[in-house]
Amino acid sequence: MNIGILGGGQLAQMLALAGIPLGLRFTVLDPAEQAPAGAAAHVLRASFDDAAALDRLAARSDVISLDFENVPVAAVERLAAQRPVRPGALALATSQDRLAEKTLCHRLGLPTAPFAPVDSAAELAGAAAELGTPALAKTRRFGYDGKGQYRLTHPDEAGAAWEALGGQPLILEGWVPFDFEVSLLAVRRVNGEQRFYPLSENRHHGGILRCSRAPFDDPELQRQAQRYAGALLEALDYVGVLAIEFFVQAGRLLVNELAPRVHNSGHWTIEGAQTSQFENHLRAICDLPLGSTEPRGHAAMVNLIGEEPPLAQLAALPELHIHRYGKSARPGRKLGHVTVTAASAAEREARLAPLARLCEADLPASSLGLPDPTASR
Ligand code: AMP
Repeated sequence: MNIGILGGGQLAQMLALAGIPLGLRFTVLDPAEQAPAGAAAHVLRASFDDAAALDRLAARSDVISLDFENVPVAAVERLAAQRPVRPGALALATSQDRLAEKTLCHRLGLPTAPFAPVDSAAELAGAAAELGTPALAKTRRFGYDGKGQYRLTHPDEAGAAWEALGGQPLILEGWVPFDFEVSLLAVRRVNGEQRFYPLSENRHHGGILRCSRAPFDDPELQRQAQRYAGALLEALDYVGVLAIEFFVQAGRLLVNELAPRVHNSGHWTIEGAQTSQFENHLRAICDLPLGSTEPRGHAAMVNLIGEEPPLAQLAALPELHIHRYGKSARPGRKLGHVTVTAASAAEREARLAPLARLCEADLPASSLGLPDPTASR
């Protein structure tokens, strides 16, 4: 089977790496000069609104998916008239707009931060007075990795926030003093079969995911998360992997964000689960039986952000799996990730310590949730 993917970043690269052993072949469409997926897939270099290139992608593909949600819905609709696109336009349109996303959660009875739509500086001030401060103003569309956000500490800051976010439609969210963050990867096949991975606990640094640990063992939270995910999968008639990010506050989950694709917080599944999120996404969109989502021991995934430690030094660490995306270094850019695996959570933490020391120059050990290695000196 031939798989087409809109977007040719590291997610498309890892989809191709998972699918090639199944006999699948890949074509990606991406405007970048050097799309990371080019190492494992045929690349059509074109913009997402290039009709002729979209038609070439459709002609080369039996089924089409995406590695990036900020593609024009019109591109997906054009492709969908020619080939199945999974997940489809409804899932994409919903997750592209934070207001649509939160409104769907509200309709399904899933808890979120309190929120209000905002279309002017005056409305922002009114919403901040109503929801209370601190509050977080977010652009409705095209936000990622903490970009497109402004934290208001007083309704008086509405004018400055409106300016800073470019005078576009916003959503204002009440501040959630969460205890920690987790995510759930859910997968649904064309015929409706569903599976769920164990929760992962996620730590961010500067708004960017830094580290995910799994399995996060809390049966009650796992049950809540699967119930919410099941409702979303059905409401969106979803096919493929859906990632849901949650805040955990006093033992209860609040939905923060959906991603209609494989997700960074699920990279640990490559070595840490019986079937990776990438393989299960492909099984789902090809209407094949889904693979087991059971964990294999304990895993932690660490993103390499902005700088990569030298390969020889990474390769010298035990039980470390290295994934480099072939991207040039730039501050804040995800250049690769590494995953440590272990038989127990304690052993996993011990294996993270030398990695934290190696990365210390770029990001502190605390960003991995580890003690500062210099504190005892
Ligand atoms: P997002 O782009 O919505 O995933 O936000 C990026 C990060 O900002 C999240 O992972 C949280 O750490 C933080 N954040 C987002 N929304 C809120 C909120 N309503 N209250 C507190 N922190 C938030």
